[in-house]
Amino acid sequence: MTSQSSGTRGAGRYAPSPSGDLHLGNLRTAILAWALARGTGRAFHLRVEDLDRVRKGAEDRQLEDLAALGLDWDPPVVRQSERGDAHRAAIARLAEAGLVYECYCTRREILEAPSAPHAPPGAYPGTCRDLDEPAREAGRARMRELRREPALRLRAEVAEWSVRDRWAGEVTGPVDDLVLRRGDGVVAYNLAVVIDDADAEVDQVVRADDLLSSAPRQAHLAQLLGLPEPVYAHVPLAVNGEGARLAKRDGAVTLRDRLARGESAGDVVERIGDSLGVPGCRTARDVLERWDPDSLPRGPWVVDLPS
Ligand code: GLU
Repeated sequence: MTSQSSGTRGAGRYAPSPSGDLHLGNLRTAILAWALARGTGRAFHLRVEDLDRVRKGAEDRQLEDLAALGLDWDPPVVRQSERGDAHRAAIARLAEAGLVYECYCTRREILEAPSAPHAPPGAYPGTCRDLDEPAREAGRARMRELRREPALRLRAEVAEWSVRDRWAGEVTGPVDDLVLRRGDGVVAYNLAVVIDDADAEVDQVVRADDLLSSAPRQAHLAQLLGLPEPVYAHVPLAVNGEGARLAKRDGAVTLRDRLARGESAGDVVERIGDSLGVPGCRTARDVLERWDPDSLPRGPWVVDLPS
């Protein structure tokens, strides 16, 4: 792979949610994120996305597993839950620019509301976007009864946005009035990811392609905040024999499961290397040295494990 030629070093990252052990698909994405970052002379960071879905001990286990495959990272490991000040400051900046409004809708009301004309499926119908002050007061009173805070939404001024993906090329996707802070007070993933990547000088975002459709929203948020847009590189998901996203119920799919079956970390890297067309890799470094990013298989990785 060629080295980055510009003066700034830049950084890549892997950002797992500590909800359990990483499975083979997660491990493959992590290896690719590391290989793409290191192979282009970038720093590489780990960020633990612990705003929700936290399982006790999962973070330590995930870090151990990544190290066992041969990944290294530049400190510090960032925990998203410790970045509240930066997240709130970003929401305040958007609010100052008139780009934030309170939303009093429940999930059910959003699902049941007629969608706005031409809006993409699932887009927020805009119910609370243009309420007058008495209606807002009524909404706040209702939130108090429900013991919730109003959610905060972006007042989006575009309907779609385009990003460039390393493999998918130009991708245009919808931007709606996305949630910035949820009704339980937790900052929304789409905002946190943009702020955390920018603050860590991450300019290369490698992750699974179930998030490709979120990239236009995130890139648009970055633009509104005056932050540089990263290069995206979305990796196809790992799936089981039926084509469904790989999950724990699919059997021995984590590194620890494989070790318990008598395999080694090297065997697991080899399986991942095989899926990338680079047989015989025993550590992440072997993948970095032998893998050509242009040759990434574009379809999902069908994980076929010996039982
Ligand atoms: N935490 C997300 C996940 O584990 C990844 C988010 C990202 O890489 O932007 O799926």
